[in-house]
Amino acid sequence: MISEQECIFCKIVRGEIPSKKIYEDHDVIAFLDINPANPGHCLVVPKKHSETISDTDDEVLEKAIVVTKKLATVVKEKLNADGVNIVQNNGRHAGQLVSHIHFHIIPRFPDDKVLITYQRVQMDENALNEMQKKLTEEGKKESRSDWDMRF
Ligand code: AMP
Ligand code: ZN
Repeated sequence: MISEQECIFCKIVRGEIPSKKIYEDHDVIAFLDINPANPGHCLVVPKKHSETISDTDDEVLEKAIVVTKKLATVVKEKLNADGVNIVQNNGRHAGQLVSHIHFHIIPRFPDDKVLITYQRVQMDENALNEMQKKLTEEGKKESRSDWDMRF
């Protein structure tokens, strides 16, 4: 686990390293990705350090997703994009390189070269039923009342 002292996005939040800032409020910052998938690729980053979506306070996530929505709309309109992808990676094998939660906003244009893809696995009716059971049973083991309400 990386410390807030070493974390590259915490350093950007603290102003210790430069960024091309697009938006900032009390809780959230957004800046251009240094290695963009397309021009206009932005990152929305909660100022409070946490690593993954599961580690992040609900209140922080709520603020970050609303900024993501607003900035995605601005990016799409100002760049005359056809659409936007919102990408959020958690964990090394999910492609997370920076261990500080962030949302990617990637503007999309006709015939661009961005690939956001995955191969599908085969699951028959039985396997889908088993998976549903596994996820709902494990959900019920959680003590959080807001989770229990779903089932
Ligand atoms: P992820 O793979 O979801 O962790 O994405 C991390 C993103 O952070 C990548 O798209 C990087 O290009 C971007 N990135 C890394 N360092 C910086 C930086 N100093 N300023 C802006 N973007 C950065
Ligand atoms: Zn951090």
